Amino acid sequence: MLLDHAQGMVFRPPSEANSFILRITLGCSHNACTFCAMYRGIQFRTRPLEKIRCIVENAAQRSPDIRRVFLGDGYALMLPPENCCPS
Ligand code: SF4
Repeated sequence: MLLDHAQGMVFRPPSEANSFILRITLGCSHNACTFCAMYRGIQFRTRPLEKIRCIVENAAQRSPDIRRVFLGDGYALMLPPENCCPS
């Protein structure tokens, strides 16, 4: 098992009530919106692809009925595709 201690709370948008929350980043890369304090105090970092793969494989074994995945945390889609997909 890879050691990768997650930080902070997991935020689930209401529209993602039934989704698996996959945190490919921790915190928010922007973290400057004046109305948002969700990730204040959390240093932004990306998760290693091997850790993401481990989480996905584990989730697939434990919950094979998962049909929707929400990528977190804040502004997770700033990552280039090569950081998220195995080549
Ligand atoms: S999570 Fe979204 S709203 Fe909050 S600081 Fe980051 S970009 Fe702004």
